[in-house]
Formats: sequence, structure tokens, C-alpha cells
Amino acid sequence: MVQSREKVSFDAPSPKISDYFGSEVFGLSKMKDVLAPTVYKRVSEAIEKGSKIDSSSAEEVATAAKAWALSKGVTHYTHWFQPLTGSTAEKHDTFFDAHAKIERFKGSALVQQEPDASSFPNGGIRTTFEARGYTAWDPSSPMFIFENTLCIPTIFVSYTGEALDYKTPLLKSVEAISNAAAPICQLFDRNVKKVVPSLGVEQEYFVIDKALYAARPDLVMAGRTVFGHNPARGQQLDDHYFGSIPSRVKAFMKHFEIEALKLGIPVSTRHNEVAPGQFEVAPVFEEMNKATDHNQLLMDLMDKVADQHHLKILFHEKPFAGLNGSGKHNNWSLITDTGVNLFQPSNSARENLQFLTFLVATVKAVHDHADILRASIGSAGNDFRLGANEAPPAIISVFLGSTLSGVLDELEKNGNIKIEKGDNMYMKLGISKIPEIILDNTDRNRTSPFAFTGNKFEFRAVGSSSNVAGPMTALNVIAADTLRTMYKEIQAEIDGGAEKKIAIVNVLRKYIKDSKRVRFEGDGYSEEWANEAEKRGLSNLKSTPFALDVLSAKSTAELYERHKVLNVTELHARHEIRLENYIMKVQIESRVMGDLALNHVIPTAIRYQTKLIENANGLKSLGLDAKAAIETISEISKHIESVKANVIGMTDARRRLNKEEDIAKRAKGYSTDVKDAYFDTIRYSVDKLELFVDDEFWPLVKYREMLFLR
Ligand code: ADP
Ligand code: MG
Repeated sequence: MVQSREKVSFDAPSPKISDYFGSEVFGLSKMKDVLAPTVYKRVSEAIEKGSKIDSSSAEEVATAAKAWALSKGVTHYTHWFQPLTGSTAEKHDTFFDAHAKIERFKGSALVQQEPDASSFPNGGIRTTFEARGYTAWDPSSPMFIFENTLCIPTIFVSYTGEALDYKTPLLKSVEAISNAAAPICQLFDRNVKKVVPSLGVEQEYFVIDKALYAARPDLVMAGRTVFGHNPARGQQLDDHYFGSIPSRVKAFMKHFEIEALKLGIPVSTRHNEVAPGQFEVAPVFEEMNKATDHNQLLMDLMDKVADQHHLKILFHEKPFAGLNGSGKHNNWSLITDTGVNLFQPSNSARENLQFLTFLVATVKAVHDHADILRASIGSAGNDFRLGANEAPPAIISVFLGSTLSGVLDELEKNGNIKIEKGDNMYMKLGISKIPEIILDNTDRNRTSPFAFTGNKFEFRAVGSSSNVAGPMTALNVIAADTLRTMYKEIQAEIDGGAEKKIAIVNVLRKYIKDSKRVRFEGDGYSEEWANEAEKRGLSNLKSTPFALDVLSAKSTAELYERHKVLNVTELHARHEIRLENYIMKVQIESRVMGDLALNHVIPTAIRYQTKLIENANGLKSLGLDAKAAIETISEISKHIESVKANVIGMTDARRRLNKEEDIAKRAKGYSTDVKDAYFDTIRYSVDKLELFVDDEFWPLVKYREMLFLR
């Protein structure tokens, strides 16, 4: 049954990680070694400011990058970008100039290229504007060598200027939040000029044997198993099972970690298993732009390395029913150019007022724009996970921990206290107590979609296959918007004569009150919470196409335009692409389900049934009781009939929906009339048949074979 393979060993180039960390990256330190000092200065300044590099510097950088790449045996280069398909794209070119018979790499080829934009989703932008796209170097993310190719991180935009990728709006949102946060920081420290969002991604994934993967058409086509009975040894037995990572997986982990370190991805060894066959990798946090590239690159890398170990990585949010799904926990904080983490409580009460200001602003932002956050994590795959009692619900709420929550309550209440000159305001308002809470991050709530975890917020509802740029752009934008308004309100109070600290506290109090209903400390998985949330008027959008409606709201377009992150055309294009993507996913799953049911499951069940009928007849001819056999035969018939009827019904529903021209209606129809109406019903009968039919007959690799890797 279970495939048993030897592990594939792989050794680090040196016992010391510092000997090879970043060896495949053409970063600032390498540039410093090889570029003329004046050029290096211009390049590093451009990176610092996020500005363009002049053409003569680009020429020098290209020449140096080429020399470095050639010295490492690399012959090709590519612009590496993140189109809206959700993976990364590359178009490889060789350094070799066939005419001149030399290796060449021009500055212009470094700075800009033209991939064929028509092969990437654009949500109608291209047809509307007849726009072609180009990729442009983003110097803030360093070049690197991957699979023997020099990769140049780029953004991807149309010639009319619309963003066709994930990175462009992300970079703009990083700027937006800096612009909004810095003025508030300056109320506390005049030296702050810039604020940078940081991101640490905890990535969950499943690993299965590659041969078994290949034997499951649903995994190959849809990334998840549409059928399959739970293994007897499921998560219940976690104590026995967890902690012993199979040696093949261990070897794979070691291998991809070494490769990741060479690429400058700061993976720290931390492996824990969450469900059978499920693992996690969590690189140390970095500046958001880099962390985003690194997460995309890491996923690619894991996929490639797994191949060498005859393994397959499943990044799908819910590859196996009845087992934990996979998420991507986005740890987010804001760090000033003076080195202060704005979500880090400190021992100084004054700094804690700043901490509280950013904390409260974040809660308020999530409160005001919960639907935008919900939309940012919506995908067909993540719908199986959210609210499945093992992942955060589709209801967006914020967890702060009881102590911090208490501080906010007190601040709200005591805000009425009059502060006289010479009073210790911090003491009077209870803010001075914060330092005690601070270092205690034991107060955790794994059921919350958005939790404060000591010195950062953790957005836990993001799907494991998602490009984090989407949710992070949304988070930056909503936080930027609240911070901007907040600053204006504080300023208005100051202009009205309030002392600065009092002005801040007054605004905080108002925000705490206005955003209270989004705070939740209890069990997010419970039914009581769903009821309570409804009473509080919080949305509970369980299905992606419905959750995406907010992307076409006027207020959303205004928000994104206000911060120059996306314009209305780009936003609508994104809405459309995501609806299209949703439809495609559900359509594929539904087809795979139909095919497997009709071509594999039913014929097998009938074959087995025929055996049972022969058996029953045999028993009868001997004058024996055939009751048990007959009962099984009739059960099997019932399930076969049900599967058949429902597959037909589902196919009809698809046909009907495909005629629907309104894409939002079509996507919603796929959610309710295809997925909700048929998936579970069909699966129920097929999984029952799996139990009835003799193991030897069953055509699909079973859960227990896939999940318990040897
Ligand atoms: P846990 O969530 O179990 O507490 P860690 O504390 O190790 O785990 O953090 C998980 C992730 O959060 C890691 O990727 C870590 O680098 C990241 N992280 C820690 N501090 C910050 C921060 N200030 N900003 C962003 N991410 C952070
Ligand atoms: Mg965590």
C-alpha cells in the first residue's frame, strides 16, 4: 500500500550558514564590491528612495550583474514578476549575442522588457485600451540566481499605466502607509521620516508522495481531493503521531532550507506538524516588499526541490476534507526609520501612548473596512477553510488579549477624567500599566482571523496558496486611511487648543468606542460567535464571489484612489479576474468530480455489486441466508443512483450558468447552484461507496495512503 522510498540526502556547502547565506543574490553588498563608488551611491540612493535609476547607472549595474552571473556559470536572464494568475512569470533571454558572438546584457534590458501581456489576465484592461504591457526593474528587491537564470524582480504594467500585477499596488501601498504613519510618529519623535511595514509569513503546506499524487486526478487537476474517506488515524491521535517528521520529509526540508538561505531567504529551522502530512515554514520577518518576493520564491523553490525527493507539495487551502486546512499567517508590523516597532509596547509610558495610537488605529481600520480585508483573502480554495472550525471564520474580528483589551476599556471609560496640569496623565488613564502586560505574549487566540501577538498583528485568515501582496496591500491601504484621518482629527483638537497628549487621547477614546464591536476575545469557531457577530452587525461572508462585491463599491474605489494605490479601472479589472478565477476553479472541480464519479467510482461500485449479487445467489442456491449481502447491494444501489442523479443535476446547472453573461452572477451561481447544491451530496455517497467497496477494487489512492508518508 504505502509507497516506501529512500530519502534523498543533500549536504550544505559549508557547516556555517554565513558562508553561503545570500550567495545567489546580487544585493547591495555585492554591488558595493564591484560598482564604482559614484555609481554605487546613485544606485543605493535610488533604492532607498524608491526612485528610478538613470540609464548610465543601469548600464553599469547590468554589466556588473552579468559578470557576476557569468562567473557563476549562468547563461540566461529573465524579468521575474507576479502577474495576477497568482504564480510568478518569467521570460528567459540569453546573454549570448549571436551576431557579436559575445555575452551581452544592456542596461535597457535590465530596466525594461516586454513580455506578451496578452497571455496574462488583465480583467479587460487590454481589450479596453489596446494596451501592451512591460516589466520594469524594481531595484528595491535584489536580483538573484534561480535555476541557473539571473532573475530580475520587476513590476508589470500596461503601456497605459495600469498595474497588471500584484507588486505595483503593493509598492504603492507601502508608500501610502509611510506617508500616513510618519506624521503621527512625528507627534512623538520629530526625527521619524519614514515608516516601513514588515512582514513575516508562516507558510503551511502538505507533502505527499509524488507517485500517489499523480494517481489522484483531482489533486492534479484541482489541487485538492474531491473525494476520500477520512483515515481512521486522523487528527484525534495527534499526540502519538506528531513530532516525528518522516525522514524523507526531513531531508526535503533541509534541502530547500539550504537553497532558500542561498537565495537570502531567512528561513529559521522550525518544523511543526499540524495535521498528518502537514508542515510549516516560517522565515524571519523582513521589509514587506522583500518578504513578499521571498514568499513567492520560496513556494517555487519548495515545489522544485520536492521534485528531486519524489515528493509533491500541496499549497491548496484544503486538500483533504476533515483535516486542518493550510493558511499563510501574515505577521505585520510597522517599523520607523529610527528603528522603532510601532506595535512594540515599551517600558516608557510616553512611547506607549504612541503604541496605543497605532494599535487603536489598526483596530479601527479593520472595523471600518472589514469587508475589504475579507475580500482580500477570498478564493475558491480558502472558502473551504474559513469557518470550517479549524481556521478563522469568515467573520473579520480583532483579538487583542484580555489585558490589552482591558487597557482600552479603561481608557475609554477614564477618558472623561479631567487631567490637570501637573497630573500624571499616564497613571490617571491606566496607560502606565501597559509595560507589565507587554512581554507576556502567552495570551493567544488561534481562532481569531486578526490577532495582536505581542509586538505585531497576525492576519491568520490568508490562504496558503495566496500571493500575500493582495491581502497586505489591502491592510496597508485601510491602515493608511485611518491613520490619515486620525492625524487630521488630532491636529484639529490641537488647533482647538488641546494639549498634544490630551488631543491624542481624546481621539483614541472616540476610536476605541467606534470600533468596539469588531473586538472579540472568545472562541471564533463557535456558533455563539456567529450569532453574536450577527447581532453586532458584522458581516459573515462565506462565499468568495459575494465577498468580492465590495471591490466594485464606489467607496472602495475612492479609498484606493485616495492613496494612489489602484484606480477604479484597475480595481474593477481585479474584481473581474478574481471572479473569473473563482468560476474556473469551481468549474474544474465540478468536472473532475463528475468524471471521477462516472468513469471511476460508479463502474467500480457496479463491478463490486455484481460480485455481491453472484455471492448472494450462491448463498441462496445453498439454501443459506443472503440478507446481509442483499442489504449491502441495495445500499450500494442507493448511492450509485444518488451520485448519478446529482452529477447530472450538477452538469445541467453548469450548462445553465455558462449562459449567464453577468460575471458576478455567474460566479455566485457557481457558488450556490453548483458547489453548495451538489459537492457535499455527491461526495457523501462516493465516500460511503469507498467504505462498502472492497479495497482491492477501489480505483483511487486513499487518504491513509497519501497522508502517512513513509
Ligand atoms: P508565533 O506566531 O508562533 O509566535 P513567532 O513569534 O516566531 O511565532 O513569529 C512568527 C512570525 O512572525 C515569524 O515569521 C517572525 O519573523 C514574524 N515576526 C516577528 N516579529 C515581527 C514583526 N515585528 N513584524 C513582522 N513579523 C514579525
Ligand atoms: Mg503564528
